[in-house]
Amino acid sequence: MKFSGKNVLVTGASRGIGKKIATVLSKYGLKVWINYRNDPTLTDELKDSIEKKGGSAAVVKFDITDEDAIKEALKVIIESDGELSYVVNNAGITLDKLSIRMKTQEFEKVLQTNLTSAFVVCRESLKLMSKKRFGSVVNISSIVGESGNAGQVNYSASKGGMIAMTKSFALEGASRGIRFNSVTPGFIATEMTDKLSDEVKKSYTEKIPLKRFGEPSDVAEAVAFLLSDSASYITGETLRVNGGMLM
Ligand code: NDP
Repeated sequence: MKFSGKNVLVTGASRGIGKKIATVLSKYGLKVWINYRNDPTLTDELKDSIEKKGGSAAVVKFDITDEDAIKEALKVIIESDGELSYVVNNAGITLDKLSIRMKTQEFEKVLQTNLTSAFVVCRESLKLMSKKRFGSVVNISSIVGESGNAGQVNYSASKGGMIAMTKSFALEGASRGIRFNSVTPGFIATEMTDKLSDEVKKSYTEKIPLKRFGEPSDVAEAVAFLLSDSASYITGETLRVNGGMLM
């Protein structure tokens, strides 16, 4: 896959899908800015493993709910590389419970982390990318952003909002040569889904035509395609990576 840009910021890249996205994008020759919030040992290990394979990586710490910290991190990237070519808004949380037990703060916390933070990163990236009239952003939404899910009123609202927001950014970015797309993973084997009981995992697997949870690499390769020059005529699209669970 060919990439005309040179660097990428991946939020929430300390583990799970974000870690795999960072690894795959480095394999395609991009310098990867690995964002983390909590544990620097995880991201230092990832940076080392990318560099050992001949790739280029840097670690950038910020909490995505902190707008000033996002702006500061983007400043560091521009000061270092002179540009920001690609962004993957991957960081996200769940806080599942039935709606009748969900406190308003629990709804807002998930919206703040998954949607508002991605908005801030998209807006600030659009400003920076506009200067070079080049850029591509992928937002990691979810299958439940389209289908809804019992126990995930907050999470599905955040992910559905992300799909619509991505299309609106795509319309605003198009005349400046900047593309925005979403990827909607189904059930992917990470710490996020590890929390599910074996019984729940089994019942979901039965509903997946390909009869398995996805791997982080399944999502990462789809992200790489959307960022790359191969997808240069694709914007505002939602790419489902769900083993056929929702068509
Ligand atoms: P994990 O829980 O394994 O990892 C989440 C990542 O997000 C971690 O790196 C975490 O960092 C980071 N993060 C969370 N909150 C913040 C914050 N405030 N600031 C900075 N980083 C933060 O999740 P997955 O890898 O499974 O999920 C990645 C994305 O994919 C999420 O957006 C998720 O909603 C989406 N997704 C996942 C699916 C799945 O089945 N796994 C299905 C559909 C979508 P830290 O280690 O510091 O907490």
